[in-house]
Amino acid sequence: MNEIREIYPLLVQPRKVVIVMHQKPDADAMGSSLGLFHFLVQLGHSVTVISPTNWADWLKWMPAANAVIDYEYNTEKANVVLDQAEWLFCLDFNTLSRTRSMAQKLKKMSCIKVLVDHHQQPESATFNFGISDTGKSSTCEMIYDLIVGWGHSAMINKDIAACLYAGVMTDTGSFRFPGASADVHLMVAVLKDTGLNHTKIHENLFDNFLENRLRFTGYVLLNKMDIFYEHNCALISIPWKDLVRYEIRTGDTEGLVNYPLSIQGIKMAALIIDRDEEVKCSFRSKGDFDVNTFARKYFEGGGHFNAAGGRSSDTLDQTVQRFISAIKENSSQLQ
Ligand code: 5GP
Ligand code: MN
Repeated sequence: MNEIREIYPLLVQPRKVVIVMHQKPDADAMGSSLGLFHFLVQLGHSVTVISPTNWADWLKWMPAANAVIDYEYNTEKANVVLDQAEWLFCLDFNTLSRTRSMAQKLKKMSCIKVLVDHHQQPESATFNFGISDTGKSSTCEMIYDLIVGWGHSAMINKDIAACLYAGVMTDTGSFRFPGASADVHLMVAVLKDTGLNHTKIHENLFDNFLENRLRFTGYVLLNKMDIFYEHNCALISIPWKDLVRYEIRTGDTEGLVNYPLSIQGIKMAALIIDRDEEVKCSFRSKGDFDVNTFARKYFEGGGHFNAAGGRSSDTLDQTVQRFISAIKENSSQLQ
């Protein structure tokens, strides 16, 4: 994988560019993709953004979100665009398997592939150019760095600012995680200067849910949370029937995994959800317990040191049992 700055001279002529993100995109994946979209359009490129799956309703306010193609829903249209692509940007993921049913298609594509991502252990051989930096707060921060490094700070307008702010704010836990560096705050100052309304963006992302989501959160915290004090761990496990009963939609379970971490002494929290087609896992930790390694070792996953995810093709009960065995095995690191 060559350095990202080597792409600058190669993108002076208009190109057909496709930007892709990981499945079930969060605000960082969607925000970085749309931020880059608005920038590359200004440079004169023909740009399409594709998401492997659908996304949460509370991301739909982002400028140009309505132009994003859902690969699962509109596979034919997306494949036509992918077949014509000269450049493919892969944002906020570093292994093609994170694009679910799109992965096979992306693997076969011979166009120039560029990676911009901040997760651990990238599949670097897949990409021609790119930057992978686990020290960055968010992919949105990296897109900002890319635009500035390219010498186009003046092109950062209110739309780009809104998209990038959404991702950096959510990936830093509203600027509380260690990744919220001085550089991040300096970047936010520049974004504010475009006229960015950060209060509105926070409302769009966090005060924009339906009643059922809040009731579901209450139900889950009361009935579906187990605490393993001897291992300083907490687990929320949710059967498929509860997702159906509360009419849970994409994005409605985001953030749930953080609640148990607010209990005194808890160092690691897990959320295991039966999503019917597979069992999905989320892991969060505080301090020196590495959930990236944990997710890779036991749940075919990965992510960051303090926030990672994974999956299982076993039943929910079997996955929960695997989790309990895994925390017993890791008990000494969790003390
Ligand atoms: P979440 O728990 O919010 O789904 O994901 C937490 C972090 O881990 C995110 O940065 C996400 O991109 C990453 N992640 C989630 N699931 C997986 C997975 O199955 N594989 C890998 N490699 N990373 C994941
Ligand atoms: Mn991210």
